[in-house]
Amino acid sequence: MGRLEGKRAIVTGAGSGIGRAAARLFAEEGATVLAVDLNADGVAETVEGRDRMTAEAGDVSSEEYVADSIRNFVDAHGGIDIVFANAGISGGWVPLSDQTPDYWEQILKVNLIGPFLYVKHASPHMVDQGAGSIICTASVAGIRANAGVHPYSASKAGVISLVQTVAYDLAGTGVRINAVCPGLIETGMTKPIFDMARGKGTEDRIGQINPLKRAGRPEEIANMALFLASDEASYVNGQAFPVDGGLSAS
Ligand code: NAD
Repeated sequence: MGRLEGKRAIVTGAGSGIGRAAARLFAEEGATVLAVDLNADGVAETVEGRDRMTAEAGDVSSEEYVADSIRNFVDAHGGIDIVFANAGISGGWVPLSDQTPDYWEQILKVNLIGPFLYVKHASPHMVDQGAGSIICTASVAGIRANAGVHPYSASKAGVISLVQTVAYDLAGTGVRINAVCPGLIETGMTKPIFDMARGKGTEDRIGQINPLKRAGRPEEIANMALFLASDEASYVNGQAFPVDGGLSAS
């Protein structure tokens, strides 16, 4: 019996990295999973040949898309038990003096407004059911300074605040909300960092600042998301959990 047997889940940013690992893990643990990503090919690859998984191309920053997608999912499956609002973009490294309001807006729309839209449109269904788990991907960058990525860090601090605040809206409903805060994980987002280091032969140095002396793997974040999604986390609510090898404690 899987840890998510019979549960119905939406995972965003599931065309790559952490979202792909989590969507596959949730399905392996018995959930019916809708895998969502802007990248249609990526998300199709995530579900290919797998049981209980469907792919959908969509933009998490579009309220029209998110509302329709959740409504269709609930109509098809009779409810929704889990949302992993994980899609995100880094925005790259741009000097402060070159940053524009458009640049900030682009990042906040995906990283912060995206999770807000999933909370807004999925939680009423969960409240009606009297149960549900929402997990949002924040970052260690939202807990402590990550030099040079101002809007990214601000968006992730915003996600933590969203989770803490919404926990009050959901008080007494049986619906839980938490955030996971990854450290440096090798994914599509961080590929340029790893590629550059490999090109210079300095890949051994990546992760040396970390107490575990290595970067993380997407599956290691997916495992935390699985725990938070499952009934094992029935008394875990309104929290933001670093999964970072100890980076934020060092
Ligand atoms: P990734 O680039 O491998 O995956 C992110 C996915 O989100 C991509 O497939 C992308 O197409 C999708 N996406 C981007 N914008 C979207 C949109 N508007 N609508 C739908 N999908 C969209 O990166 P990842 O590292 O797996 O990132 C997953 C989450 O983890 C992000 O929120 C990221 O900020 C967070 N995170 C990553 C790290 C890391 O080191 N990789 C560290 C901390 C937090």
